[in-house]
Amino acid sequence: MSEFRVRLRKRNITEEELLADLKRVASELSKDTLTVVEYTERGNFGANTFLRRFKQWNLALQMAGLNAPNRQHVPDAELFENIANVWTSVGHQPFGRELDKAHGVSEFSLGTYEKRFGSWNKALLAFESFIQTGKFSEPRPKLAGPSQSSKRTDRKINWRLRAQVLIRDNCICQMCGASPAKDPSVNLHADHIKPWSKGGETVLENLRTLCIKCNIGKSDLHDENN
Ligand SMILES: [Zn+2]
Repeated sequence: MSEFRVRLRKRNITEEELLADLKRVASELSKDTLTVVEYTERGNFGANTFLRRFKQWNLALQMAGLNAPNRQHVPDAELFENIANVWTSVGHQPFGRELDKAHGVSEFSLGTYEKRFGSWNKALLAFESFIQTGKFSEPRPKLAGPSQSSKRTDRKINWRLRAQVLIRDNCICQMCGASPAKDPSVNLHADHIKPWSKGGETVLENLRTLCIKCNIGKSDLHDENN
């Protein structure tokens, strides 16, 4: 199936492809800069992929010929999404020190969280509440989709739901047991248990954590994908 080939190709994403996609999204938004949240809404790749490859979001922007976002007014939602990225990349609830840019995939420093929330623990509590309630402190742009009139859930799994699924499953692949906590190269996905194409909804109960290898193996058997 062509889907299988596409997925294999995606595993070897080049730096040029990543930078080109950054430029595409920036151009679609008519902006000369991009936040992670803005990119995640429209981008073809995960923010993790950029942070793993370029270490810092701003460095990727710079290499794409874009400017760094104005960091005076980072929305809470973006700080929370970064926690989700770090959490699901390291495979466990992150320690404050893991926010240090030099040590991993975090876009923001520990100091940013301490300033905003008072302490790292308070930031984690606010994150937990946000993940569960989905309340954004600032409105997000609505994606124009063809299924507006449908009452079905969107096929797309937003980052908040993905984080809920991965954290609920302790960042462990539900098929083979792989976890980034044991092997940092493990890349986890949230996967529909009952395929969306067969009527399965994009809700917590119908989602599970799979590593990319198991997800690819599975799509060889079914036509399901995320
Ligand atoms: Zn697996």
